[in-house]
Amino acid sequence: MTTVHRVYNFSAGPAVLPLSVLEEIQRDLISLPGVGMSILEISHRSAPFERILAEAEADIRTLAGIPASYKVVFLQGGASLQFSMVPMNLLTPGSTADYIDGGSWAEKAVKEARKIGNVNVAATTKGENYARIPRQDELKLTPNAAYVHMTSNNTIEGTEYKDLPEVGNLPLVSDTSSDMFSKPIDVTRHALIYSGAQKNMGPAGVTVVIIREDLLQRSQKSLPTMLNYAVHAENGSLYNTPPAFAVYTMGLVMKWLRREGGLAAIEKVNVRKAGKLYAEIDRTGFYRGTAQKAQRSLMNVTFRLPSEDLEKQFVKESTAAGLDGLKGHRSVGGMRASIYNAFPEDGVDALVGFMREFEARRG
Ligand code: PMP
Repeated sequence: MTTVHRVYNFSAGPAVLPLSVLEEIQRDLISLPGVGMSILEISHRSAPFERILAEAEADIRTLAGIPASYKVVFLQGGASLQFSMVPMNLLTPGSTADYIDGGSWAEKAVKEARKIGNVNVAATTKGENYARIPRQDELKLTPNAAYVHMTSNNTIEGTEYKDLPEVGNLPLVSDTSSDMFSKPIDVTRHALIYSGAQKNMGPAGVTVVIIREDLLQRSQKSLPTMLNYAVHAENGSLYNTPPAFAVYTMGLVMKWLRREGGLAAIEKVNVRKAGKLYAEIDRTGFYRGTAQKAQRSLMNVTFRLPSEDLEKQFVKESTAAGLDGLKGHRSVGGMRASIYNAFPEDGVDALVGFMREFEARRG
C-alpha cells in the first residue's frame, strides 16, 4: 500500500469515506478474493454480486433494526429522483400530500411533488432563512393525507430534527440523505425513508429506499417501470443493472460501521465531534452559528464570520492549511463544515485549532 497525502475533507457530499474502506477497495479492485475478477467486471446476475447485494442489505437491516415488513431497495437517480418517485408512487389521485418545508432540499421536494399532484405545505420556515425546522404546533396537516414528507437533516442550512414530528396515523416519508446512519433511527415510525448514499453511506450512484410493504400497493402499473417501487422491490433491486460498484462500496462502509459499534456508538462520536465545533463557534462571538441552537445539525455545521471579506480569507487560508471544502453552499454563503461518520475527529480538532488561530490574527 502506498502512503499518500490526504487533506481533511469537509465536503457536504460526495464526502469522506473511511480510509480502511478505500484501502480495501484498492487492494481488491483488480481481483475480488475468490472471484478472480474486479467488482467492475462481474455480472450483476452472478453469485458473487448477489452475495454482495444481500450482505449490504442485511447489514443495513441489522444496523437500523429494520422489521421484515419493510423492503430495502437500491436505486439510482439520487435523492432528487425520489422527489418525483415518492409522489408518483404514493400520491394517489384525489388525495393530498403534506410537506414540511424546513430547508432548501425540502423546498425542491415540494416543487417536484407539485408536478405530480396536490401538495399542502404543512409549515415552512423559509421566511426565517430556514434557520430552524417548523415546530409541531405550526404543522397544518391534512386529514387522511397520502403522506407527510420531511427532511431529517437540512444539509445546506445545518439544522436537524431532534425528535420526529407527530403525524398520527399518516405515513411519514423522510429524506434522510444527510444524516442517515449518523445515529439510531426508528424505522417503525416511518412509512418510507430515502437517502442518497454519498454522504454517510458510500459513494454517489446508489440511493437507499426503505419502504413499508403495504405502501407498495399504491404503485400503479401505469407508472414507467423504472419509477415503480413495487417493481424494484419484487425484483430485489435487480430489475435492471444496479450500480454495482456503489453497492459494493456501500456494503464495505456498512461493515465498517458495524465494526465501529453501530449507530448508537457512532452517534456518541458524532455528538462529541459536533460539540467541539459548536463550542468554538460560541466561544467569543467572532464566529456566528446560523442554525437555531436546539436544532443544530451533527453533520453539517454552518457558521459565519463578521464580514464576507473575512469569510473569503478564511476559505483561502483553511484550504491552504489542508482543511478542504469549508465554503458554505452558494445559496447561503458563510462556512459549512460537514463532518459525517467517516470524518476523523482529529480533523475536527485541526479545524478548531485553525479557527482559534485565525481569530487571534484577524479578530
Ligand atoms: N436531499 C438532501 C437532504 C440532500 O442533502 C441532497 C444532496 N445534497 C439531496 C436531497 C439531493 O441528492 P442527490 O444529489 O443525490 O439527488
